[in-house]
Amino acid sequence: MKIYLDNAATTKIDSRVAEAMMPYLTEHFGNPSSLHSFGRDSRSAIEKARKKISALLGTQPANLFFTSGGTEADNQAIISTIVAHKIPRAISSPLEHHAVLQTLEQLHKNGQVELKLLEVDKQGNFNQAQLSNWMEEVPQSFVSLMQANNEIGNIYPVEEIAAEVKDRGGFFHSDTVQTTGRLRHDLAQWKTDFMVGSAHKFHGPKGIGFLALRQDVKIPAYIYGGSQERNMRGGTENLMSIVGMAEAFEISITELDTNRKHIEGLKNRMKELIVAGIPGVGFNGRSAESDSMYTILNVSFPESESGEMLLFNLDINGVAASGGSACSSGSEIGSHVLRGIGANPARASVRFSFSKFNTMEEVEHTAALLCRLYSK
Ligand code: PLP
Repeated sequence: MKIYLDNAATTKIDSRVAEAMMPYLTEHFGNPSSLHSFGRDSRSAIEKARKKISALLGTQPANLFFTSGGTEADNQAIISTIVAHKIPRAISSPLEHHAVLQTLEQLHKNGQVELKLLEVDKQGNFNQAQLSNWMEEVPQSFVSLMQANNEIGNIYPVEEIAAEVKDRGGFFHSDTVQTTGRLRHDLAQWKTDFMVGSAHKFHGPKGIGFLALRQDVKIPAYIYGGSQERNMRGGTENLMSIVGMAEAFEISITELDTNRKHIEGLKNRMKELIVAGIPGVGFNGRSAESDSMYTILNVSFPESESGEMLLFNLDINGVAASGGSACSSGSEIGSHVLRGIGANPARASVRFSFSKFNTMEEVEHTAALLCRLYSK
C-alpha cells in the first residue's frame, strides 16, 4: 500500500483537470499573441480562465495575473511594490515561506529596504502589538504575512492586519498558497493588497499560479520582453496550465465543503489514534487546534532512537510525509519554522498533510504503523 500524506508539498492532479488540459496540449496550439484564428482560440481560453478564477475570488479579471507559481507571484508582489513605491520598511515573520523571506532578505541586503521580523511564540503566534508599534514608526511599510503556515498549519488573522496596515497607509501582501482552493476568499471584501495562488496545491498542474491585486493597486512589470499579461509579465503564456488551473480552482471551490468535511475527519482520526497509541506525542504550532488548517498535522514525536530514522521508516513502509526538525547543525539544515518556534531539536517532527484523495483506511494504516514504530 502506497500512501501519500504530503499534500502541503503538492497534490495529485484531478483527472478532470488533466482532461480539460489535453486539447491545449494537442489541437489548440496557437500562440495566444497571434492574430489569426489559431491564436485567437488560445487567447480566448486564457481570458475564459482568467474570468472563471477572478469570479470565484470575487474580483475583476483585470486584477488577476498569471505567473509560474506561488514563488514568482510572491516575488512579483514584494519586489515590484517595494522598488516602485520606494518603501522604506518591510515587516514580516520568521515563519514565512522562503519565497517571501529570502526575497525580502535579498532586497534588504541590496540596501533597498529595512527588514523587521516579528517575534513569534512557541505556538507560532506573532506579536501583533509589535507590528502596530513598527507601523506607527513607519506607516508606509510593506507588510507580508501568510494566511496559513505550510509547516505548522497556523491560520493568521490576515484581514484584521490588512485593515490596520491600510488604515495607516502601508501595503499588505499575504502568501495564500496554502489556503487558495482550500478556504474561500472574497476579494470584493478583502483589504489585502496582494494574494497568491499555486495550482499544484489544489490538484492542478505544477508551474502555474497567479497574483491577484486589490482593485486600484498598481505595480509595474515584473518580467520584461513582451506585452503579455497586460505588460506585467513578458513571455508566451503557459496555455494548457492556465486552462488546467482554472478547472482545478473551479472544482476546489465548488466541492470545498464536502472535501473539507472529509479531510477534517481524516486529520482528527490521525490525531486521536496517535495520541492514544504513542505516550508523550505532541504537536507543533497550533496544528492540533481546531482553528488551524484542516489539511495539516505537524506531529512532534517523543525522543527515541526511532526518531532519527522515522521518515525513512515511513517511506520504506510506503508512507510519504515531510520531515522537518529544529536542528541546525551538520549537513541537515532543518526547518526554519520549527527553529523559529523553538521546537525541541531532539524530538522528530513529521508533517502529515491530507487531501480529498486520502481515505480513512490510509490514515488508520499510517497511525498503526507509527504506533508500532514507537512501541519498540
Ligand atoms: N508559499 C507557500 C506557503 C508554499 O507552501 C509554497 C509551496 O511550497 C510556495 C509559497 C511556493 O509555491 P510554488 O511551488 O508554486 O512556487
